[in-house]
Amino acid sequence: MKTAETIQQVREIVKQWHREGLSVGLVPTMGYLHEGHLNLISRARKENDRVVVSIFINPTQFSPNEDLASYPCDWDRDAASCETAGTDLIFHPEPSEMYPEGFVSFVDMDVLTKELCGLSRPVHFRGVCTVVSKLFHIVQPDRAYFGEKDAQQLAVIRRMVQDLNFDIEVVGCPIVREADGLAKSSRNTYLSAEERQAALVLSQSIFAGKRLAQQGETDAEVIRQAMRQIIEVEPLAKIDYVKIVDLSTMQQIDVLDRPFLAAIAVYIGKTRLIDNFMFQPTGGANV
Ligand code: AMP
Repeated sequence: MKTAETIQQVREIVKQWHREGLSVGLVPTMGYLHEGHLNLISRARKENDRVVVSIFINPTQFSPNEDLASYPCDWDRDAASCETAGTDLIFHPEPSEMYPEGFVSFVDMDVLTKELCGLSRPVHFRGVCTVVSKLFHIVQPDRAYFGEKDAQQLAVIRRMVQDLNFDIEVVGCPIVREADGLAKSSRNTYLSAEERQAALVLSQSIFAGKRLAQQGETDAEVIRQAMRQIIEVEPLAKIDYVKIVDLSTMQQIDVLDRPFLAAIAVYIGKTRLIDNFMFQPTGGANV
């Protein structure tokens, strides 16, 4: 496994792979890897000749009041995990490599970024679109892998790839959970033992909402209320949002007659966690 800290190094390595006719899969991450990330890497490993994992805590997607300074990192453990999972190259740049002095160009998006996490994190998706565009230009992958855990991010990136004509296949991968249901997240490490227990209301709320949808409930308000009630009984939990949106537009809907995303963001103490489920009402199958 190779590691590169500069854009130039990545370009040289990938150029050589392309000359040899090898396909390249990219897994963008902010590090502190867990099985959610490793699942993306294994999928990329299966579908490409070469796998690049980027590990970069992207400052432009954090607001000043967020957890950029305390975001967890463990380079040695991440490098070992990447190697075991079959990574060929880790791209691990310094912020100054990605955003040198004088950097002023950003990729932004309308509509899709104005709901859900975009409301409570106003600069977040501009930062995500900018860094993912940069990674796409630097690595020039054939495929890029993203988790459904960040469902809005996945929708935003799919849209960006379409709108800006990136010749890249975006592959979405299912949410990986702890045995008790909590969606795996690098931020789970912030939780005290008591908060870790309290955080179960997120997945309980998601599972309850999904059950109602599977039983044929088509009134979004009924599902939202049932989901809220589960979270509200937990004193350590504070709801940021519980919303149901059209899967393609991310706009709120009241009647569940098309593919939708039910998404929640909840503070457990000071830690903001997210979870979701996607559903295709016609036929009742998951999407
Ligand atoms: P992050 O390091 O949090 O920016 O996440 C990097 C990628 O891993 C994103 O595409 C996330 O959606 C994905 N990811 C994070 N947690 C999970 C999870 N529990 N299940 C599936 N994918 C995940």
